[in-house]
Amino acid sequence: MASEPGSPRVPNEDYASVALPAAGRGGALVVLDGVTPPPEDVGCEHDVPWYVTRLGGALLELSGSRRDLTPSQCLAEAIERTARAHGPRCDLSHARTPQATVVLARWDESAVEYLVLSDSALLVEGTDGSVTPVLDPRLDRLWPAARALPPVERVAYLEGLRNAEGGFFTAAADPSVAHRAVTGTVPREEVRALAALSDGAGRWTEIFRLGDWAALMAVLRAEGPRSLVARVRAAESADRDGATFPRGKVHDDATAVLVEF
Ligand SMILES: [Zn+2]
Repeated sequence: MASEPGSPRVPNEDYASVALPAAGRGGALVVLDGVTPPPEDVGCEHDVPWYVTRLGGALLELSGSRRDLTPSQCLAEAIERTARAHGPRCDLSHARTPQATVVLARWDESAVEYLVLSDSALLVEGTDGSVTPVLDPRLDRLWPAARALPPVERVAYLEGLRNAEGGFFTAAADPSVAHRAVTGTVPREEVRALAALSDGAGRWTEIFRLGDWAALMAVLRAEGPRSLVARVRAAESADRDGATFPRGKVHDDATAVLVEF
């Protein structure tokens, strides 16, 4: 796995971890992408790296040790635990309380279970060579309407739909969001490899269009996660002003985890 900050001067708000073996067999992976907060006060004394480290640590531990819980139940419990770790002065009802996107995968001899919430991605490579992306489409569905608005109104429109009915959902302080995640199970014998990507790494496909998800998986398998991130950095540097490939940040935190069975 590899995880690199968009800027060496700003702490990485992505989080990646793997447990091998989890509960004596199989394993688990967790990738989180912390949501960069606005410059104004969000009513919390904790920053995003604090949040993703807490949530990610709890989620990996629960995924490995509590195989009686589904991935959604593990996420709900991890959010609950992290919410309890905030202080009395933290306003957990603030719309921009520390929060993150989530990818979780857990496997044993019989199955691969997965969960995706918001705009990080999981790729599942089958033993037949097919690559299936697991994506939470909610934010993408809002883009056509958002794009038609002037930039200031666009931000307000999207922020109004953050963790709101009909909008898109991130892991923040409300455990019930876990049941909004995209989840599924695949027979373990049908899976050859998994890749979890924050959108900073997924932009190789989604923004720079250097290849589809199957091509991205091929790069990962041939060259490894560090090389994928380096390729993203090269594409970003070749379009510094975002003129050819418009994007929110010139460089974003980028994380890729590859699991080969
Ligand atoms: Zn706090």
